[in-house]
Amino acid sequence: MSAITPAPEHRATAFGADVLHVEDLRVEYVTSAGIATAVDGVSFTVRAGERLGLVGESGSGKSTIATALMRLLRPPARVAGGRIVVDGVELQGLSDEAMRRMRLATIALVAQGAINSLNPSARVEDQILDGLVDHGRAGRREQRRRVAEVLRQVGLRPEVARLFPHQLSGGMRQRVCIAIAISLRPKVLVADEPTSALDVVVQHQVMETFRAVQDDLGAAMILIGHDIGLMAQFATRVGIMYAGLLAEIGETRKIFGNPLHPYTRLLIASITTMERKTELKGIPGLPPSLIDRPTGCPFRDRCPFAMERCAVEEPLPRPVDDRLVACHLY
Ligand code: SF4
Repeated sequence: MSAITPAPEHRATAFGADVLHVEDLRVEYVTSAGIATAVDGVSFTVRAGERLGLVGESGSGKSTIATALMRLLRPPARVAGGRIVVDGVELQGLSDEAMRRMRLATIALVAQGAINSLNPSARVEDQILDGLVDHGRAGRREQRRRVAEVLRQVGLRPEVARLFPHQLSGGMRQRVCIAIAISLRPKVLVADEPTSALDVVVQHQVMETFRAVQDDLGAAMILIGHDIGLMAQFATRVGIMYAGLLAEIGETRKIFGNPLHPYTRLLIASITTMERKTELKGIPGLPPSLIDRPTGCPFRDRCPFAMERCAVEEPLPRPVDDRLVACHLY
């Protein structure tokens, strides 16, 4: 499969400087059945203050991108090409120690499932202090002041500092993960399915907390998930991923107001809402194998608009109506 050539992206200018730049990123998994290309030439930038949502079905490559951004991919995964630049620093060239210093201080991850991210045998304050101490931030008194401050920022009382994870609700645990992630005021926040294990009301509250702390930090944010309705509410831009490729990327209101890529249209048609009066439509078929991906457009077997050209030529992203779309219809 050919890598996608980055094309200029048309965007509003209300945000700050680019702090995250991903160019032609390619990630592979080496398996006994062959090489699976999980991310195939993905490019995007995120500015300070922006929230870019990456959305797609399981296996579309979105969580692999999150892991690559933190440089936490482990064999059998490998970065096979491309660049990731965070706050002007190219991650691929960094030593392990330099990358360790970048994590939390410059780029921080809130991973899926807070219960798995937190140490069950450590109090909340010790888990927040870990990062502060490891990065040599201030004295003990200043560190404790910062613990109280980040707990307050995520809507938790100071007493929570003395509790263990099992004494907290799911929403509180997720807030603790956010508190840890913002403790060193990173410039980029990566949230990988941050609310997947929470009920709808708590999801919304946690996302509001995310929005508030990100606004406060002025950080760039990557929000990864499969809940396109949640993305519509919280992301300022959305990238629709399919089989390791970016099918469409642009401002949220444009994409939801007028989806162009056939996959985006079907994804949006599959959202359940209280107001929906039309029949709910699923997307027929399954994504292609990432090991033997067919030639042409990876969506062609499921696409109602597929034509002859789609079977032989991979569509590259091109600017259409203030966004990028990878589809031969445009
Ligand atoms: Fe459908 Fe062809 Fe567009 Fe792919 S390139 S989404 S198959 S119309």
